[in-house]
Amino acid sequence: MELPLNIEFTEKVVVVTGAGGVLCGTMAKAFAQAGAKVAALDLNEEAVKKLADECKDAGYICEGYKANVLDPEELEAVHRQVLADLGPCDILINGAGGNNPRATTDNEYHHEKTEGQKTFFDLDPNGVDFVFKLNFQGTLLPTQVFAKEMAERKSGCILNVSSMNAYVPLTKIPAYSGAKAAVSNFTQWLATHFAGTGIRCNAIAPGFLVSNQNRSLLFQEDGAPTPRSNKILAGTPMGRFVEGEELLGGVFFLCDDKAASAITGVVLPIDAGYSAYSGV
Ligand code: NAD
Repeated sequence: MELPLNIEFTEKVVVVTGAGGVLCGTMAKAFAQAGAKVAALDLNEEAVKKLADECKDAGYICEGYKANVLDPEELEAVHRQVLADLGPCDILINGAGGNNPRATTDNEYHHEKTEGQKTFFDLDPNGVDFVFKLNFQGTLLPTQVFAKEMAERKSGCILNVSSMNAYVPLTKIPAYSGAKAAVSNFTQWLATHFAGTGIRCNAIAPGFLVSNQNRSLLFQEDGAPTPRSNKILAGTPMGRFVEGEELLGGVFFLCDDKAASAITGVVLPIDAGYSAYSGV
């Protein structure tokens, strides 16, 4: 792919969680292409092994590891393996995250509900718990495992993945919105807590991207936008969706110790203007 910035990550060990997915797979590949030694972690082992093979075929350094970001013991085991294969972690990308249908209402507004719809009152507490755990603890636990050596070496960089809905919640997804707000808040907490150790901690807040998971929610079969899609685009000053590769410039910048040497605790929106617009 065409890299957005001429930044070198040669010899840097970059650990990416959620690398079996669309966005973090793109980030992992981009870091590998920029010279880093990449550890691609995901619950989906097949996906990260495939990613690692593709990187190796292109002449880059990347290893795939099965890792559940909610399992401290498994993370410790993977950490030992990454140390043996690639060395200590310089940059940690906490990318694993997502929503769950059990924590999603069918209707945007309660007064508009129709018979049989799942309302706020039907939300499954376990589904809500799942979403908070995946996004918040799934950011905290890998940081406990991989940032310890950063603190000892007095250098390192953590990049969390928040979302647009951390600023203002999106309809239907209260748990995912709240959990990403917690990720943004935690980013500031970590930045402060580690400020004296040489570790910087920032986040990106991606806007609306078209992915395989949400394509059918955004576009009809004939390619025309759905009503939800029209609402999103009407609320986006640039009037378009964000492409996955458009995250890379912000990611590279925030992870470069020289370019972003005094930047810690920021959450960078990459959203075609969505978070800047009040709707009026
Ligand atoms: P994705 O579903 O393609 O990728 C997520 C990956 O996380 C998957 O490969 C999945 O296997 C992995 N994963 C899930 N649970 C895990 C666990 N317990 N341990 C380890 N890995 C686990 O999603 P994506 O669209 O690439 O999103 C990546 C990140 O970006 C997520 O944090 C998401 O919340 C965030 N985000 C996405 C969008 C978007 O529009 N796609 C917008 C804003 C933020």
